[in-house]
This record gives sequence, C-alpha cells and structure tokens, in this order.
Amino acid sequence: MEYISTRGRAPALDFEGVTLAGLASDGGLYLPREWPRFTEAEITAMAGLPYAELAAKVMAPFVGDSLTQDELLALCRQAYGRFSHDAVTPLVELNERQWLLELFHGPTLAFKDVALQLLGLLFETFLSRRKSSLTIIGATSGDTGSAAIDAVAGREGVEIFMLHPNGRVSDVQRRQMTTVRAPNVHNIAIDGSFDDAQAMVKRMFADQTMTSRFNIGAVNSINWARLMAQVVYYFASALQLGAPNRQVAFSVPTGNFGDVFAGYVAAQMGLPIKQLIVATNINDILHRALSDGDYSAGTVTPTAAPSMDIQVSSNFERLLFDCGGRDGAALAEQMHGFEAKKAMQLTNAQREGAARLFTSARTDPDEMSRSIRWAYDHAGQVLDPHTAIGLHAALASDLDPAVPIVTLATAHPAKFPDAVERATGIRPALPARVGDLFAREEVFAELPGEYEAVREFVSAHAEPSR
Ligand SMILES: *Cc1c(COP(=O)(O)O)cnc(C)c1O
Repeated sequence: MEYISTRGRAPALDFEGVTLAGLASDGGLYLPREWPRFTEAEITAMAGLPYAELAAKVMAPFVGDSLTQDELLALCRQAYGRFSHDAVTPLVELNERQWLLELFHGPTLAFKDVALQLLGLLFETFLSRRKSSLTIIGATSGDTGSAAIDAVAGREGVEIFMLHPNGRVSDVQRRQMTTVRAPNVHNIAIDGSFDDAQAMVKRMFADQTMTSRFNIGAVNSINWARLMAQVVYYFASALQLGAPNRQVAFSVPTGNFGDVFAGYVAAQMGLPIKQLIVATNINDILHRALSDGDYSAGTVTPTAAPSMDIQVSSNFERLLFDCGGRDGAALAEQMHGFEAKKAMQLTNAQREGAARLFTSARTDPDEMSRSIRWAYDHAGQVLDPHTAIGLHAALASDLDPAVPIVTLATAHPAKFPDAVERATGIRPALPARVGDLFAREEVFAELPGEYEAVREFVSAHAEPSR
C-alpha cells in the first residue's frame, strides 16, 4: 500500500514510512492512495473473531508488505492483551435503539489507548529494524498524552516530549502523564490552549534546525497508523449488530476529527454505515463546517469535556481532500488560506461529499449534564462528559428508528469525576489498574506559550538521532 500527502508535494511512502514520519514534509497528512474494499462475504467471515484477530484482518491491506500477517497478529495480541476486558471494546445496550461502545478499557482509560498501544509497538519494531531512533513531539488536550506516554515509556529507540496546555487538563489526565518515571519521557506544560500547543508541534516538524538534528515523529492523530487502528472497532461493533446485512449509525464525540474519520474509512472499506454523527461541544467549528460550510476558528472555551476543546481539527483536512476530488495542489492553497485567515469556506464538492455520510450536532454544558443523567436514570450507566455529548447527539437524531446508533464511549467516567458527580451525585472511582496515581510525585517543565522556548527545551534534552 502506498500513501500520498493531502497537499500533493511530499514523497509517497509505504506503511512503515508513514508510521515513522507522522506529518508529511509538505505540511499535509498521509492517506492511502486508494481505499481497500472488503466484499460482503469477507465481512461476514469476520463475525465472531477475537478482537486481535479481527484487528489484524482489517488492518492487513493498510500494512501491506511492512509486516507479515504473523508479525501483525503478534503485535495486535500484545497491544490488546493489556486491556482489562476480554472483548477489548465491549458493546453495551442502553435501549432497543441506543448502544454504547466502551473504548476505555485500556491502561489510561480513554479510547486513545486502542491505537497508541499498537503504535508504540510499531515504532519499536520498525526502529529496531532500521537501527534508528525517533524523537516524538506531541501536543495533547489530555488523553493522547497519557496514552502515548504509557505506550512508549521505557521502549527502545523512542523518546517523547509531550506538550499540554497548563491548567486545562483534568487532574487525572495530568497525573497520568507527569507521574510516569522513565528517562525517555518529558512533559511540558505551556501557557495557552491545546490549539497553541498543536501549532508549535506543527512548526517544529517544519523547522529545519530541528529536523536536521532529530528524527522527529508524531503520535497525534495526524499519524495514519492511529486512524487505521481505530477503524477496527467500527467493524467489531457493526458486526455484532448484524453487519454486513444491517446498516448501523455512529455518534462520535469529536475534537481533532480522528476517531470519526476512522468511521469514514470503515465505510469506504465496505462496512454498511448509514451515518456518522459528529458530536461537538460549544467549541463547534466542525458543526458549523458540516452544517453550513463555514470552517472558521473562534476562540477556545474551556469545558468539562477538554479533549473536545478544539477549534482547529487537523484530520478534517483528510476528509476535505478525499471529498474534494483528491486535488493536493488545490487543497494546499485552501489550507494555506485557512492558516493565514483562520477561516475558510468549504467547496460545494466538499460539502456534498461530506453530507453523504456525515451529520453534526452541538451540545451545550446543560445538555451534556442532562445526557449523563439520562443514561444513569434510564440504563444505569455512568458516562463521562465526552461520551455524554455523543449520546446527546444520538438521542436527538432524526434517523430511521430501525437503524441502531452506537455512541462511542471515549473515556472512563473516573477521568472526569467532578462533572459526573455534578450530574448524578455519584463520584466514579478510578479502576484499580491505574494504581496509586494521586500518591506519586509529578515531574514536568512549565514554559511560556512561545515556540522558541519549547524548541530550546527540546534541543537541550533530546538525544540527537541515530
Ligand atoms: C481525543 C478524545 C476525543 C476526540 O477525539 P478526536 O479523534 O480528536 O476527534 C473525544 N473524547 C475523548 C475522551 C478523547 O480523549
């Protein structure tokens, strides 16, 4: 399988290449040159497979020759063996129509683990083969950071620098990052928002004084391998609900558009997805873009669902490319315009292409609390704020009631205990697998929201590349 950049000017790479590269050298994002497609019979044959085996089957066309089928299966077994539920991503019934897909049974309690546990192993495998090393630079609104750090802590050949917006992630999220003691882990709190942190990371990828000294890699969802791993649970849940003979819809709490884009990929591969509901909080750039074509970044308002407090959704570029005729030069111009003005209009082709599968909904803080309450009262389920936003959008859907709607449960409620307690009166307890999180010592650097300060810190602490 060959991968091409959304901006048309970076070299095509194989799977190993895109996994290690992260962002493309022209500032674009990598996508497969074409979508692999399963037949109905092939999808039917996937029903009932254990998660790791299903994962290896679904990902095989994307991995191509970079790993043998046996190697891929072994990595999947290792990655998903660390989950605390045998089904890895269990599906829970709320009522005859509404379902929850629990994606938080990994080591750091959010769906990011599903992809990052595998990505950590892919890095180690490819780097040892090439006898090289990788300096990972990432920005997190909370959950990516902890999941990425858990996935690479102590691994050979990889070093990680993780930026988070100071004071804007939950205590559990911050402690899951800052209490990990491994020489290859560096945490940085910067003044500013997640978008500011992400912009610095993007700038570092384009900074030749850095890229000439360090082999810089990404764990944000700009890394294709993450999206690929997330495609698997769309298959797992739809198969349980009767696919390929029945259509299924998904409601996805969305920030950087990675998780819901994986659903789009699943649909391109032949999974019968009726609709993907992009659920946003009041930071609603995606809702505005999908409902009236207005992709313009406002200022970020902090909410109880911090992983969705985003105004620039990196992966949306992948959809705009795929729906807009895959014209890299035109998209590069459109994105440069957006980067300059923080605003752009979608083209008609992009709007029509997106509307075939996507719809969107915006949920305010009161509606979010009511949704947590609804799940508790009607189904005895305690939801985290992100999941509650997804469920609110699912309950408001005007789809044919015969189509089941699966809401992606993206985080464990104990990651956000205050919001859950306000809505239900119950303070969810942390599962035993996170250990003595609140007793361990935290270590992190605090830096101003300036690119130069971050660059200096990384230069001073990173090992030059092998
Ligand atoms: C990351 C995250 C999201 C948003 O996912 P994207 O792939 O960035 O759209 C939603 N909920 C939780 C709990 C998350 O950690």
